[in-house]
Amino acid sequence: MRVLSVGSEIYPLVKTGGLADVLGALPAALAAEGIETRTLVPGYPAVMAALDGADTVLELPDLLGARARVLAAAPGRLPLFVLDAPPFYDRPGNPYTDASGHDWADNGLRFAALAQAAAEIGGGGLGAFQPDIVHAHDWQAGLAPAYLHYADGGQRPRTVMTIHNLAYQGQFPAYLMGFLGLPPESYTMEGVEYYQSVGYLKAGLQFADAITTVSPSYAAELQTEAGGMGLAGLFRRRAAFLHGILNGIDTGIWNPERDSLIAARFDAENLPARRENKAALQRRLGLAPEPETLLFAVVSRLAWQKGLDLLHDVLPVLEEMGAQLAVLGSGEAALEAAYLAAAQAHPRRIACVIGFDEGLAHLMQAGADAVLVPSRFEPCGLTQMIAQRYGAVPVVARVGGLADTVIDANEIALDACAATGVQFAPVAAEMLAIALNRTARLWTDREAWRRMQRNGMKADFSWARPARHYAQLYRSLAQAA
Ligand code: ADP
Repeated sequence: MRVLSVGSEIYPLVKTGGLADVLGALPAALAAEGIETRTLVPGYPAVMAALDGADTVLELPDLLGARARVLAAAPGRLPLFVLDAPPFYDRPGNPYTDASGHDWADNGLRFAALAQAAAEIGGGGLGAFQPDIVHAHDWQAGLAPAYLHYADGGQRPRTVMTIHNLAYQGQFPAYLMGFLGLPPESYTMEGVEYYQSVGYLKAGLQFADAITTVSPSYAAELQTEAGGMGLAGLFRRRAAFLHGILNGIDTGIWNPERDSLIAARFDAENLPARRENKAALQRRLGLAPEPETLLFAVVSRLAWQKGLDLLHDVLPVLEEMGAQLAVLGSGEAALEAAYLAAAQAHPRRIACVIGFDEGLAHLMQAGADAVLVPSRFEPCGLTQMIAQRYGAVPVVARVGGLADTVIDANEIALDACAATGVQFAPVAAEMLAIALNRTARLWTDREAWRRMQRNGMKADFSWARPARHYAQLYRSLAQAA
């Protein structure tokens, strides 16, 4: 079975969020299920620079006005098709925005091009690689199922549309219909039209044979008015085709026994070695070097979604309990400023590093006692799974994938030695404050705490389980064809 996976980020070449982790890790796990995956990604400078010895496998002389070609390569053993279209992708910086943070004005065309190239390959454009399934990820690939739906002749692979984050939907002005190469009749509510615009994600959701998202709880939330973000009706209508498949994490990269980015390696049987990481973290961030002080960490985009304004509201609670807080993140200017100011006011208690720092992220997971994820919504979330693998106790909002991957330390779960973290709901500052206090109480019972750490470290967060689910889905779609 062959799968063409399509998306705009792939770890380690281009990453702005969890989407990249998924596209980077899933192919190898699927290979173990007997599924051959190739991933089509845009030829951003970082991707082109990583290629060494690529073959041109398809010429696309007029891809939405650009001269383009598809290259086949396997940098770092990642089997890729790279869409080399310099007018669209040969730009510095972020995949979606210019240096001042504004969306590139031609994003509609840039990602329609990606989808159209995917449809070319899906439709049989490459004799040597005819996919059974075209798997589109997020809005950037959303038009692929639509192009395949309206393609005449050629092969008809089955299609899967996966939502990693519904907050980004790819909505573009209706005049683009004149350029996209979709038939005019596709511009209806049953097609690509979305609130008088062209909806890229909506198109994918409408035309894909199956829809998946990255946790069962999020799949349920999508069908509610609040969670559906304008698409709840569509999700309810297509509920029979909607599946929640939890993400995994790359357990090769996130492995405390082998991690070269942390101060001391450790495993579930050697938890005291974590203390060295805690000390290294406190030293690096200028926090008071106190091994017994409960140290919370945040590794996150600083965005409304992540609920970090709520955490900021309850900083006095942390101060009262004498805990420490380390924040690593970047994003909204107001949040960055708020945490920098808090760190400046309490340098021995609160530290804040603005930026994206892979190495520090590893040290924080290895050295913090607890990792906070107070998200308002969270399709899956990787940080709380990474935390558990590193023996940090996750303290999370009970939403989406956070609800599905953390077992709350209620009395029953503690008695049964099953707890792995702390959940709170609803997502509000008062409830977060209560969760922080609960966590502090648990911290004083070192035996219970260690058990939670070990439970989390024993859990299987690898890609093996999700890969089995995707393989099952692909096979059932192929059989139904
Ligand atoms: P999202 O995709 O919504 O940003 P996830 O929890 O699914 O959130 O994935 C976030 C990923 O990005 C994790 O691998 C996390 O470690 C990483 N990450 C987030 N912010 C930073 C940062 N400032 N520095 C380093 N890694 C980060």
